Amino acid sequence: MSDYRFVRYETLDEGSIARIYLNRPEARNAQNIGLLRELDEAFQQAEGDERVRVVILGGLGPAFSSGHDLGTAVAREERERYRRPQPAAEGRWHFEWDYYFDNTRRWRDLRKITIAQVQGYCLAAGLMLAWCCDLIVAAQDAVFADVVGTRLGMCGVEYFAHPWEFGPRKAKELLLLGDSITAEEAYQLGMVNRIFPSERLEEETLNLARRIAQLPTMTALLIKQAVNQTLEMQGFYNALKACFNLHQLNHAHWAELTKGQSILGTPEFGVSREWRPILHADKGASGWQPQ
Ligand code: ZN
Repeated sequence: MSDYRFVRYETLDEGSIARIYLNRPEARNAQNIGLLRELDEAFQQAEGDERVRVVILGGLGPAFSSGHDLGTAVAREERERYRRPQPAAEGRWHFEWDYYFDNTRRWRDLRKITIAQVQGYCLAAGLMLAWCCDLIVAAQDAVFADVVGTRLGMCGVEYFAHPWEFGPRKAKELLLLGDSITAEEAYQLGMVNRIFPSERLEEETLNLARRIAQLPTMTALLIKQAVNQTLEMQGFYNALKACFNLHQLNHAHWAELTKGQSILGTPEFGVSREWRPILHADKGASGWQPQ
């Protein structure tokens, strides 16, 4: 155990498995900057511990993660505290690069094998945390969606792995409509590796980790590197970096339109802030509701 405030870090099985829990259940593990900084520390703690072979990343409470924390008092205070000194789009670019892009990339490149353990909502930036792990294990109730297009007027989250994870056509559908997919559908897309009943999720994820921990570390590392480098040769990182810059253009657009008041779309410019349920991407329904 450790003295983190926003995450919980523990090791199991004589230290061969590290388990990190996002620990803001009351906020559905919304990601404030303090949480992301601690998560980076926790991953580096596991990376530096030669006993650790597998790292499990989970979330305490009903949801894995509801995305970036845009609303709580903690988040507002932190945005001021960690604001970059550069003005306007430049400062925003550096801030989002450091906290939303480059740390996610760093976690993907960890030399340990990582497993995301997902239950309940995994929304927007919650996807980034699951996607940067090597395997994704889900509870039957897991729900995956990126709603930042329909709710914030943004072209997806900062780490734009959507086409790689959903496939290109499904990525367009899910981003344009803001609809969700179930654990079963994510499994069919190849995004999720295993699905367990909620009450067995933790135990079965640990058992998978135990199996992987039996593999020689050299073998596990080279399997990870071989797959990740294949994606990189297909353009994975260059595509992600290019899309990060499009994301920054999108913020700059809203900032210019709102004369600096908002870096996200506002109702005045056609982005509704009214509460609406997230619709399931139902194969046989458009989801259209006349006003
Ligand atoms: Zn952003």
